[in-house]
Amino acid sequence: MELQTQFESLKHTFEKTLKTTVDLAGLEALRVEFLGRKGKLATLMALLKDLSEEERRMVGTVANETKQAMEQAFDSALAAMKNENISSHAWFDVSEPIFPKESFGHIHPVTQIQQELEDLFTSMGFMVADGPELESDYYNFTALNIPPTHPARDMQDTFYIKGHPDQVMRTQTSPVQVRAMRKYRAPIRMIVPGRCFRNEATDARHEHTFYQLEGLVVDKDIHIGHMKGVLEEVAKHLYDGEANVRLLPKFYPFVEPGVRGEITCFLCRGTGCRVCKQSGWLEVLGAGMVHPSVLREGNVDPEQYQGFAFGFGLSRLAMLKYGVDDSRLMQSGDMKFLTQF
Ligand SMILES: [Zn+2]
Repeated sequence: MELQTQFESLKHTFEKTLKTTVDLAGLEALRVEFLGRKGKLATLMALLKDLSEEERRMVGTVANETKQAMEQAFDSALAAMKNENISSHAWFDVSEPIFPKESFGHIHPVTQIQQELEDLFTSMGFMVADGPELESDYYNFTALNIPPTHPARDMQDTFYIKGHPDQVMRTQTSPVQVRAMRKYRAPIRMIVPGRCFRNEATDARHEHTFYQLEGLVVDKDIHIGHMKGVLEEVAKHLYDGEANVRLLPKFYPFVEPGVRGEITCFLCRGTGCRVCKQSGWLEVLGAGMVHPSVLREGNVDPEQYQGFAFGFGLSRLAMLKYGVDDSRLMQSGDMKFLTQF
C-alpha cells in the first residue's frame, strides 16, 4: 500500500475505534497505541525519511494533516468524556483506593485561631499584611524605638545570622508596622499574623518558635478608647460574647502609654481557677498608643496622626482555648496531640 493511503487508513481506523471507546482508561490505551511516542502514527512518520524529496513533500502534507486530525479528534473525545463524568457522575474508578477519613488531616489549632481572627478583623475593615521572618536589625529593633544599647533587647534574644550581623530572625510581628506605614502611608488599618522566634531555653511556657497577631491602626483623632473598643470586640468574638477586657500599665518601648491586656478567664468565667491562678483574668495581649518616634520612622507626622497597636500571642490563645498546658506540643507535629482538635 502506498504510504499516503496508509496514513488515511490509519486515521480511519483511529476514528472508528475512538467512537466505540467508553471510558477514560480505554481512551488512554488508544492514545498510547496510536499517538504515543512508539505508536502507529510515529511508526508511519518514520517511513517518510526513506522517500525521495518530491514524494516526501507530497506525503508529508498528508501526514501532518492526519496527525492534526487525529489529535483533535482525541482531544474533543477526551473533553466530552470528562464533561459527561462531571455532569452525570456516570463514571467512577472502582479500583481507586479509599483512604480513611482521618488521614486527610485538618487545620492546626493555631491556624484555626488565626483564620477566625482574620475573618473578624477583615469584617472590621482591617487588611491582612505580611512581612519577612528573616528581618533586618533596623526594622526589628531600631525602628521600634529599641536602639542597639537599649536594655529591651535583652528580653528578646533571638537567632542572629552568621556573617550577616544586621539580620535577625524576627522576635515579634511589630517590624511590619514601620514597613507598612512606609509602604501604604496613613491612614492604615491592618493586622499581621505570623511566625516569630526567640532564643529561649524551652520549657512548658517558652518556645523558640511561636505565632503572633499584630494589629495597627493609624489615623487622625485616634485615642485609647478606640483601642479598647477593638480589643473588647476581639475578646467577645473569641469567647462567646461574655468576656470583658481590662488594661493595666506595662512598658513596651514602641508604645506610649503601653498596656497589657487581660480578658475574663473563659474556664472559670472570672470566678478564679488554676489556669488563671485564681485571678479570674488571663493575660493575652500587649498594646498601646504608637510612640511618636515609631510614627516618624514610618514617615508619618505624629502632629497629624495618632495610632494604636496591639499584639496577640496566637499560640497562647490556642493553648488557652483548648486547655493545652505545654507550649512545646504546638510545634511537635505529634499526631496523637494534633488529632484531638
Ligand atoms: Zn480561671
